[in-house]
Amino acid sequence: MKIITDSNLEAIAEKVEAGIPVTDGEALAMLSTSDIMGLCSIAHTIKQKLHGNVVYYGVNMNLNYTNVCMLRCPLCAFSRDKNDTDAYVLSLDDIANKIIQAGDIDEVHIVGGLHPDLPFSYYEDMLKTIKAIKSTIHIVAFTAVEYDYLSKKFDIPLDELFVRFKNAGLGSIPGGGAEIFAPEVRGIIAPKKISGKRWLEIMAIAHRNGIKTNATMLFNHIEKPADIIDHLCHIRQLQDTTKGFKTFVPLVFHEEHTKIKAKRKEPTGYDIIRMYATARIYLHNVPHIKALWMYVGPKVAQVLLQCGVDDIGATYYDEKVVHSAGAKTPAWGSEPFLQHLICDAGFTPLRVNASYIPTR
Ligand code: SF4
Repeated sequence: MKIITDSNLEAIAEKVEAGIPVTDGEALAMLSTSDIMGLCSIAHTIKQKLHGNVVYYGVNMNLNYTNVCMLRCPLCAFSRDKNDTDAYVLSLDDIANKIIQAGDIDEVHIVGGLHPDLPFSYYEDMLKTIKAIKSTIHIVAFTAVEYDYLSKKFDIPLDELFVRFKNAGLGSIPGGGAEIFAPEVRGIIAPKKISGKRWLEIMAIAHRNGIKTNATMLFNHIEKPADIIDHLCHIRQLQDTTKGFKTFVPLVFHEEHTKIKAKRKEPTGYDIIRMYATARIYLHNVPHIKALWMYVGPKVAQVLLQCGVDDIGATYYDEKVVHSAGAKTPAWGSEPFLQHLICDAGFTPLRVNASYIPTR
């Protein structure tokens, strides 16, 4: 039976088989093909070569230490001004209690707003407090946007900041804040946020300090297909130099309570599949492609396991950011829930931390 019916995809399959990176033009063609079976067969072959029948998942919690943020990006439904009635900052005791309440977790994922008043010791002590409760916990902390802010505010060079945070317990860095690099689009959805160029610079410095990171991309807002390719191209180029990205995470934009009127319908199933499969094929040098089940929904996340995705995300106990923007998925999924999604699709679940080290 012939799976591939799109002639562009036949050429791409041959290149992938020969280990030749696909071009930007080929990526554009993949983003518009209706030959989903053909596209996914290429992406899935790559996934199987890299990871066999394994699909990774994590048992973690989210820690959003403050929703106060000086940037108030139009794309953000989570942030608040300091004097808003629902603005909050977690104390170190609050944080300790949350970690204890989360129970048997392997990892904590920390992201917050750019608060104008918190002292530097708060950030370092946050990491130390968590490690003191459970020394084996893997801490994934602070986006490049937060690192840029802390470095400038406290006049600490990024190299030194990374070393200090590593010494305090930092394990790896999430991929948030990347949004979409194209300046015209970024200038509308997040005008005060660091530029895409600066985001990439900060990631390069983290990689140079031996810290692995993720890379994200926010899609289905006002970007064009060429902006997606531009974003993927920058990730692939930096990875060729540093090899520090472990995972690429496409994120579907949720617009509820944001100031962005995307004028776009919900992405179709094909839109989402094309995005993940194209990322898997184009980013030949990035080991993992993650589909966060809470962004795309558990049913779509399960289907994506046949489309190049090898990581379904984690339990995300206490997630707040995407749910502030209207995500309809539960705020967290149990471990058996994730295992069932993976097994039901015919794969072998493997519980890991954010560095893909098995934790059981
Ligand atoms: S997206 Fe991040 S930087 Fe922008 S307002 Fe929200 S919390 Fe602040």
